[in-house]
Amino acid sequence: MSKVFEIIAKEEKRQRENIELIASENFCSENVQKAVGSCLTNKYSEGYPGKRYYGGCVHVDELEDYCKETWQKVFKTDYHVNVQPHSGSGANFGAYLAVLKPGDTVLSLELNNGGHLTHGSPVNLSGKIFNFVFYGVDEKGYIDYNDLREKALKYKPQLILAGASAYPRIIDFKKFREVADEVGAYFMVDMAHIAGLIAAGVHPSPFGLADLITTTTHKTLRGTRGGLIFCKQELAKKVDSAIFPGTQGGPLQHVIAGKAVTAEEALQPEYKTYIENVVKNCKAMCDEFIKMGYRVVTGGTDNHLFLLDLTDKGVSGKQVQEACDEVGITLNKNCVPNETRSPMQTSGVRIGTAAMTTKGFTAAQFIDTAHKIDEVIKKLQANL
Ligand code: PLP
Repeated sequence: MSKVFEIIAKEEKRQRENIELIASENFCSENVQKAVGSCLTNKYSEGYPGKRYYGGCVHVDELEDYCKETWQKVFKTDYHVNVQPHSGSGANFGAYLAVLKPGDTVLSLELNNGGHLTHGSPVNLSGKIFNFVFYGVDEKGYIDYNDLREKALKYKPQLILAGASAYPRIIDFKKFREVADEVGAYFMVDMAHIAGLIAAGVHPSPFGLADLITTTTHKTLRGTRGGLIFCKQELAKKVDSAIFPGTQGGPLQHVIAGKAVTAEEALQPEYKTYIENVVKNCKAMCDEFIKMGYRVVTGGTDNHLFLLDLTDKGVSGKQVQEACDEVGITLNKNCVPNETRSPMQTSGVRIGTAAMTTKGFTAAQFIDTAHKIDEVIKKLQANL
């Protein structure tokens, strides 16, 4: 047997036994895995359905069209959709290149305040080719919409970006649209984290408001690893050519198959119940930490994740992440607003409930896990 399958077996065991609290992870279904592991991986299909650079594309054409239609149903939208981005990062680059030129100004959420690397970090290509400027969160950790407007008026960006990797509250897309209109900017939403909540109707939808919407398919959407771009019909050509030939070559048709199965699953009534449970469980766990005296950024959560602020506990996010790893609890260190430590240390941890809710964890089990994490933190403090 190949060594690879031995490694996969070990990872399978780790995934089965650990308590998985990484907010961006989930467990996709066997059907999704079957589609991604199919013979479609053998097929080259540069281009788009009906306009390919290769022969033999009749079945992948049918697949890609079906994938697009199914995602439009998930988000109840007539926006154009491109299902080819290999990842969330790739989707963001496709969206940027569709409407921006190098050097154009983009206004996005600061990384330390919950933004993503592809939202203009200087170590990411986005920050190297575009002029990113940032809005932040207020002292409680909520998006500061006054700061957003002030920065928009000051910098006159070509694009305003909403969306985050570590933001526990509802995002007011209408306010973003108003500010974008005031300064004549495109409005883009990166809904990667909350896409599942939007699909299930438990977070307001950006469809109808944003010009461009990007997402991953593997977080709350619980599918294969990949990206999608939605856009208003008038931007369809620009988005498509920004992905191919702009930033990608041949699409991954096996992954597009996995995305189509993901979309079919998100249309099932059980999926809505699942997402409602994710949010309910997240509140229950977050409330338990608050009861135990922990500081939580914004004082709570509206979605699938929350951020523990450990500043007053004398331990770093990195220490907590590593100590949790030792007892089979997987979570990640995260910056908090007004962070004083480096991104490699951090003063917080991010906790999400999407993955363990898939495994059938109840609110009581999440509460029990909160106590286990508290024990880990107390042990760390005792050894300081
Ligand atoms: N956008 C947001 C908001 C994210 O949180 C992430 C990943 O965590 C991405 C984009 C990038 O997705 P990927 O890791 O698929 O490139």
